[in-house]
Amino acid sequence: MSEDKYFIDDSFDPEERFAHLEHLEPEFWKKKKLEEMSKEEWELLCDGCGKCCLNKLEIKGKIRFTNTRCRFLDCQTCLCRIYPNRFQKVPDCRDIDLNAVREKPRWLPKTCAYWLLDNGLDLPDWHPLKTGRAASVHEAKMSLKNRETVSETGIQNYENYIIDWEDL
Ligand code: SF4
Ligand code: SF4
Repeated sequence: MSEDKYFIDDSFDPEERFAHLEHLEPEFWKKKKLEEMSKEEWELLCDGCGKCCLNKLEIKGKIRFTNTRCRFLDCQTCLCRIYPNRFQKVPDCRDIDLNAVREKPRWLPKTCAYWLLDNGLDLPDWHPLKTGRAASVHEAKMSLKNRETVSETGIQNYENYIIDWEDL
């Protein structure tokens, strides 16, 4: 899948990501390790929750999430508005690769498909790869959509925004 497909413009339809996957091995995520997946399979594992784009603090060796979000995250679609250029525009934006998935302390939310699979767990029933619909992550209330978050712009004391959501 081309990275350009993630760039938000008027023609982008998130549902297209999961609409035509007949060419893939059924339930490939159960049959392959993360390191064996193709680029397309790897990208499809992302459920689009947007939770990895929340700012975090490391306190006493533990990651604490805040409800401040990257200024480039669209809080309605939970997609990055600058996906193809994100590393140029946001130097601390992280690529989700195996190192990121296995980093300690864990900084990906515990619902993140990469972290789940790497720890021997299955995808949740609401994952778009299981439902065939991108919107299922939002309907299950597992994304940032309709949650109380604020843009990071102008925020100085991130400690005041620490949250303890169950799905982080
Ligand atoms: S937390 Fe994981 S599943 Fe959610 S948007 Fe980030 S990479 Fe994708
Ligand atoms: S630049 Fe990075 S952290 Fe910001 S919204 Fe895009 S992917 Fe998320």
